[in-house]
Amino acid sequence: MQTIINMECTECHRRNYCTSKNKNKHNERMELQKYCRWCRRHTKHKEIKS
Ligand SMILES: [Zn+2]
Repeated sequence: MQTIINMECTECHRRNYCTSKNKNKHNERMELQKYCRWCRRHTKHKEIKS
């Protein structure tokens, strides 16, 4: 079962991405290195509740 989640930049705290994940496979909070257009570089993004 797929769940929609938002990814937030850990530096500026803006929501830059939304994605879906399988809660059965990834029960823990996801953290990804993604490009933030506000920081204008790659930063760590973490999952937040939508
Ligand atoms: Zn940022």
